[in-house]
Amino acid sequence: MANIGFIGLGNMGRPMMKNLLKAGHSVRAFDVMAASREAAVQDGATVVNDAPAVLAGADAVFTMLPAGEHVRSVYLGANGLLAKCTNKPIFIDCSTIDVGTAREVARAASDAGLEMVDAPVSGGVGGAAAGTLTIMVGGTDAAFARAKAFLDPLSRLVVHAGGAGNGQAAKACNNMILGITMIGVCEAFVLGEKLGLDHAKLFEVTANSSGQCWSISNYCPVPGPVPASPANNDYKAGFTAAMMLKDLKLAQQAALAAGASTPLGAEAQSIYSLFNAAGYGDMDFSGIINFLRGS
Ligand code: NAD
Repeated sequence: MANIGFIGLGNMGRPMMKNLLKAGHSVRAFDVMAASREAAVQDGATVVNDAPAVLAGADAVFTMLPAGEHVRSVYLGANGLLAKCTNKPIFIDCSTIDVGTAREVARAASDAGLEMVDAPVSGGVGGAAAGTLTIMVGGTDAAFARAKAFLDPLSRLVVHAGGAGNGQAAKACNNMILGITMIGVCEAFVLGEKLGLDHAKLFEVTANSSGQCWSISNYCPVPGPVPASPANNDYKAGFTAAMMLKDLKLAQQAALAAGASTPLGAEAQSIYSLFNAAGYGDMDFSGIINFLRGS
């Protein structure tokens, strides 16, 4: 079994780290929050006092951080992981960040003679706990082959999406689809209400017709049809509206840089911006149905 370093023990990182421990690996862990470090001790990890200290003896180093700026600060600079590294672990960044930063950090790793992949995840806190994430990976074939063995205990599917940054590119495209389809599904259910359609009937039709999509079949935004969807629990997140907005912004940033026309992605970003600005950032992203209903 391997020695793993893990940095970023938040809502996603902690359960992912626990699954690596469960798979029999040893983990050296770090988070800037004292409470997260204490929890990791309870979980059976060895906790260290700063990020580079996870490197000692590591075969793989995971990072699961909020955004690009955090990834930059942990990897780059004189006190960053790349400068402090004297061994050759595979670096696996599972954070959801912008494609540009992912490519910049991967290039810095390569310049230092180190291997790195970007490996953002889909499946939320539930998927992290159950070890059923979908993981989209960007990096060389050799880096992917090294990372895959460490990603398997966390996931039900690991996809090699191409070179450095392509994991983040796939994640941005997927979540742009999700934001757009959720708004579309919410609009259809609100229209149905106004036309006198029963939620259950509209669900039965759309889940079995050409309008079918994940936002209907797995995450229906009205109570009833999909018992596990947050609509049945007062829109308690789940996946917060703030996170959806973050991912839609990443998609727009990528679209702008690549010269891609994504008008519906842009519209979804402005609708989620309004929802967040109205104070609903902590609500599940499907709660936007109430906003569209005007209630
Ligand atoms: P979180 O805020 O709960 O956890 C992030 C952790 O990183 C925190 O514990 C924080 O203290 C720590 N941290 C920040 N800066 C650090 C540093 N310099 N050194 C060490 N630790 C540091 O966030 P999360 O929900 O776990 O999400 C992590 C990433 O996963 C984000 O990029 C998010 O977009 C992505 N993601 C989240 C979900 C979800 O449902 N929560 C789903 C898919 C992807």
